[in-house]
Amino acid sequence: MTSANTLLKNILGVKGAVVQGADFSEDARGVKKLTIRMRPKKRESDRCPICGRHCAVYDRSSVLRSWRALDFAGILVYIKACTQRISCPKHGVLVSAVPWAFHDSGFTKSFDLTATWMTGNLSRSAVAEYLRINWKTVGRCITRARKCVEPDHSKRLDNLVNIGIDETSYRKGHKYITVIVNHDTNTVVWACNKPVR
Ligand SMILES: [Zn+2]
Repeated sequence: MTSANTLLKNILGVKGAVVQGADFSEDARGVKKLTIRMRPKKRESDRCPICGRHCAVYDRSSVLRSWRALDFAGILVYIKACTQRISCPKHGVLVSAVPWAFHDSGFTKSFDLTATWMTGNLSRSAVAEYLRINWKTVGRCITRARKCVEPDHSKRLDNLVNIGIDETSYRKGHKYITVIVNHDTNTVVWACNKPVR
C-alpha cells in the first residue's frame, strides 16, 4: 500500500524532499487548510538557488518559511520548511534552495507553472479568482515560470539556421499574431501581435 508520505509528494509533484508531517485546520469561516512540513533530502540541501551548486552553510540559524501549493479539492495547502543561508562562491550569501519552489517564490513550482498555463486559456482575473491569489501575483508566477523555461533569452538566436514564419488569428479573427520558429529546435524565436489592417 502507498504510504501517506509518497501520496502527498506525488500529489504535490515534489521530488528530492522528505515529508515530516501534516496538520489540518479549519478556521471560523470554514476555510480548510492543510500544512505539510517538509525538508529537502540530503543531496538537495545547501544548494545555491541560482546556480544549483552545493555550497557551504553560511550560518546555522534557520528560518521557518512557507510556500503555497495547489489546492487539494478546495483545501488550501501550504508547505513549511526550515531554511538556512548558504555562501555561494559566485552568487554570495543567499537562502538555500528548496526542490519544490523557484528562487524567491512563496509558491511551489507546480503552482507557478499551473497559473502560467491557465493564463493561456483564461483571463488573468479569472486565474486570480480561481487560484485565490492577487491579480499582480499571477504576473509574478508567469515571470518565474518563464525564467524556468528559458533562463537566458540571448541564447534564443544561437545556431539559428532554418526558420519558419506563420501568422495566426485570435479573438475571433480580429487580431493576428506573427510567430517565428526555429525549425531545428522546434522553439519560438519571436512573436508579435498586431491589429488587422
Ligand atoms: Zn550560485
